[in-house]
Amino acid sequence: MGNFTAKNSRHDPAEIEPASNRRRTSSNTKHMYNSCTMCLCSFGIQEERIPLECINSKCARLYCSQCVKFVQMHNGTTKRFRCMYCLLEYPLQKIPEENQTLIKQLWNSMSIKYGIRYTSHLLNKQLTENNMIDLWCDIECRRRHLINLISTLERFSRWAQIHQITNDTHIMAEKLLDIATRMKENPTENMHRCQSEYKEVISMSDQNNNQESNEIGSCYIRTCEHLLGDISDTEFYRAFTNTHAKMIEWNSALASSDQFQPQVADLFTAIETDLEEQWVNHRHGIVRAKIGIIGYTCVGKSTILNRLLGIEDLANEISSPVRSIKSTYYQLQFDRKEPLKSPNNLLKTTAVTLVDIQGHDKDVPTVDNQITPGNYLDEIRKADCDIYVLVFDEKLRYEQHGWITYIEETLKRQCILVRSKIDIDFLAKYRERSGLFYGSSTVAERNYHTSAILEQLRFDNQMESHRIYLTAADFMPASSDAETLLKTLSFDMKILIDELGHLACDARNRRIHSLAVRAIARVINVCFRRGYVLNVFNYKIGAGLAAIVPFGDQLPRYLARDHIRQAFGITKDFRQYLVQFRLSIDDGCLQTSTLENCVTATMMKTRGKNGSLGAAVGGAFMAGAPFSDDIIRVAAPTAVALTGGARIALTASTAVVGVVISAAVCAWSAVNSGKHIFSYVNRLCDDLILVSNPLVTALIDINSRKDDQAS
Ligand SMILES: [Zn+2]
Ligand SMILES: [Zn+2]
Ligand SMILES: [Zn+2]
Repeated sequence: MGNFTAKNSRHDPAEIEPASNRRRTSSNTKHMYNSCTMCLCSFGIQEERIPLECINSKCARLYCSQCVKFVQMHNGTTKRFRCMYCLLEYPLQKIPEENQTLIKQLWNSMSIKYGIRYTSHLLNKQLTENNMIDLWCDIECRRRHLINLISTLERFSRWAQIHQITNDTHIMAEKLLDIATRMKENPTENMHRCQSEYKEVISMSDQNNNQESNEIGSCYIRTCEHLLGDISDTEFYRAFTNTHAKMIEWNSALASSDQFQPQVADLFTAIETDLEEQWVNHRHGIVRAKIGIIGYTCVGKSTILNRLLGIEDLANEISSPVRSIKSTYYQLQFDRKEPLKSPNNLLKTTAVTLVDIQGHDKDVPTVDNQITPGNYLDEIRKADCDIYVLVFDEKLRYEQHGWITYIEETLKRQCILVRSKIDIDFLAKYRERSGLFYGSSTVAERNYHTSAILEQLRFDNQMESHRIYLTAADFMPASSDAETLLKTLSFDMKILIDELGHLACDARNRRIHSLAVRAIARVINVCFRRGYVLNVFNYKIGAGLAAIVPFGDQLPRYLARDHIRQAFGITKDFRQYLVQFRLSIDDGCLQTSTLENCVTATMMKTRGKNGSLGAAVGGAFMAGAPFSDDIIRVAAPTAVALTGGARIALTASTAVVGVVISAAVCAWSAVNSGKHIFSYVNRLCDDLILVSNPLVTALIDINSRKDDQAS
């Protein structure tokens, strides 16, 4: 195996250097890509996302194991696997082989993502009674994370089948609870036994497995990644039922017919129906606006979270996030029972999910504001929220201004600033001004000072660019004075909730948009891109392939542009369908001329801070994005500039809930794509995904306007 290139970051083995530079790298350098050649999904450690490499060492293109399995299924026992890139026909029963280097890298990035280093540290050291609490917290933390993932999955799959994985996860969570409980009940119990039991529960002990998956935490990582994948799949199935049904139908048709069945018009009709249903009452809660709570640890994030969740009395809430003992390794999600109301129109409500994003330690700075796995900006990005609420209890630090900029400029999301623990400041000022304790002063005295103090507090906590909401922890007031104060004064909590109710509606629309584009991208990648290749290999080429010149200009009939357009169903009717929406697309993005006349090309312009719906897809390009949490990568001028002209792949993957958009270069960027036999299929698929972006925007506009009129 040749040298391994990882230009961008230590953790990202993806080859992302510009195509123009590629020629200059030495010939024994091996290029690797972070997405599947066939379906463009990104690789992962889950069984179906393992990277497999073409056995032709000159080719070495990577496939995800799901694609290979899919091809095998359709090939049966008699047909051979053929690489869609180098066209090599494999010996019977042989398939691409696991790429161990990449798998190792994937495991490395996973153990960073899930904080395994810290756990290993706890497991390997001699614990005293004093620091056993750390181990207990670690166990409890992982248990909560598992429970939270299960409940997220169960929310989506209430009507669908529950997987084996939920049972396995419950068992793991129960074992963790058992260890934690015993530790608490009997602190003098043999600590070593707890350590080894904990290690056993979260790690796999299968001797047949490769080395990586036997390491500490491997079982926990696998379980979490599996759950995340299932959550993402179920969300797709639940939120885009018709589109999902089409995908299933077309995938199974691929095996039984030499007719290529997927039709773009059917896909867009399905997505249109699915989008309409997002505004039907009983389906409203499926896609929710996500509000993320960020900030340093111990600044009162949990209190804000509970308040925003609408929890009135903590004693009755078992699932309340405030009980978390410390930051988690991954975000915890909580659905708000009641939808948020828009202050201008109380009939207009939005279902929201609140996300507790791992508290960031004040003492650990975000290194150079770089996006590397495991740092706070990365946590913020992965949480993939539509609105972020930054909670702080003193002056904003320099680093935190960086978070705000990152959220607003890079992620193109809104950032709301919340100053917590304001009651403490209020009471100090009160005492200063009046010389009295709040609790022991009269109503008249209180009234006399209150407005002046509030004014002073507003002055102390102001920022030119943002409104700062003043809040106080009214669940567990810090003193009896605070308790008295908070009975009459709730500061800005109500207007904060109103503001979120106001923003949530647009935020949900943006989320629906991202999910819809992702759904379309997935169907196009799986059914059209992969499907057509498979169809050609299975029915059109047969033994005749050897006769065609792989990279020549003379393509067989079924690879001619006309034929492909016809097969996809890009007809006059379909073009007219697109024209009616008056879609516009950034100039120079389309890679074929097929859809040119259906859309208006607009000159690139810098998008405003809060952007339109489209900005949700346009923004947030990160070439160094770690594996398995990128969902959609979209060709756009920004991204092209970023990689010096290399072609950006439009891909969709299924790694996490929600949508984060990032750019990556797939294997196809390395070839002069015009000369490959499947080049047109690929470029056309890219264009279809690209056009679906403004189309979904238009459809959402229509539906939400209808909804406005109705309410
Ligand atoms: Zn694939
Ligand atoms: Zn190959
Ligand atoms: Zn599953």
